[in-house]
Amino acid sequence: MGSNSRRNLVGMDRRELEQLAAERGQPAYRGRQIYTAIYARGARSFDELTDLPGSFREALAQHYIIAYPEIKGRIASRDGSLRYLLSLEDGARVETVYMPEDNRATLCLSSQAGCAVDCRFCFTALLGLERNLTPGEMAGQALAVIADQHPKSRLNVVLMGMGEPLLNLKAVMKAVRLLADPRGMGISLRRITVSTAGIVPKIAEFGREAVRPKLAISLNASTEEQRTALMPINRKYSLQQLLKACRAYPLRPRERLTFEYVMMEGINDSDDDAARVADLLCGIRAKVNLIPYNGGPALPYRPPSLDRVLAFQKVLSDKEIPAFIRISRGQDIMAACGQLRLASSAEPNRQTLPTTPQQCVATPECQ
Ligand code: SF4
Repeated sequence: MGSNSRRNLVGMDRRELEQLAAERGQPAYRGRQIYTAIYARGARSFDELTDLPGSFREALAQHYIIAYPEIKGRIASRDGSLRYLLSLEDGARVETVYMPEDNRATLCLSSQAGCAVDCRFCFTALLGLERNLTPGEMAGQALAVIADQHPKSRLNVVLMGMGEPLLNLKAVMKAVRLLADPRGMGISLRRITVSTAGIVPKIAEFGREAVRPKLAISLNASTEEQRTALMPINRKYSLQQLLKACRAYPLRPRERLTFEYVMMEGINDSDDDAARVADLLCGIRAKVNLIPYNGGPALPYRPPSLDRVLAFQKVLSDKEIPAFIRISRGQDIMAACGQLRLASSAEPNRQTLPTTPQQCVATPECQ
């Protein structure tokens, strides 16, 4: 039986693996053993499941595989971050970024192959949406990079790679449960962040999840007009509707909503913009990540000066909005989400280049 006709166990949760064991005449705890081997120990072949009876291992190997997305490319940055191009079972390709620091490492995972949201500053938008990723493909990105890097330090996960996570919410939440299960991958929920361009109805749905990571909102503008120009999704879910959803969001004690704000010189970086952002966030327990734009020379936008970023930060701080300056990682390795994937594909689906790439950053939650 070829690997194509065998089912991948990566993506199955404990209950599903218990059921699988039971269907094969094994006690439920055998399923839990498989779960621990795959997610906690990183087993990649049934030979490594030595706590299972040999006959069961053989039966499993006939019908199932333990497969991660395949690493097709790996580009290292001078700052130590690594951008992976991963191939999925059907040939779809996604990017995953690994950002090690002194006492922690951050993984930026993709939730979709391509994206339908069409933010004007994002290279992934040029691909259009190919398809949603499965929970196994999201957890598998993490497992593949962990197997490649063997991180010793604390691991954070951000779903800020390719795709809009809230448009693939059910699969994203199952992946989050796999990532966060202390009996499996064991990444604390406090160290997992899901980022959205502002899919308003899904924000409320996300807020009702029992097992819920942190939420970040990609804001990037201080007026409706400005946001619509950068993020056409704003026509469907306006800034006003987005902030209403944020105000209604059920924050836990001491939790804050993170607002990501990519600063572009002369576009959205004035003191007036900062004052408007402060007004918009009034009444929301929020913090703001200021991300100076990191674009290539071919693109028409530039990062603001450090003085401008500091001035913007001061306006927010004076209005008691915590604001942190976040420098993009991997600036020398096509740091923008989707660029590597785009470079590996034949034709983008939009002729116009975007104004500025999406940035991979280590957010406050990642610290
Ligand atoms: S920034 Fe995110 S939501 Fe917007 S097009 Fe890119 S991947 Fe999609």
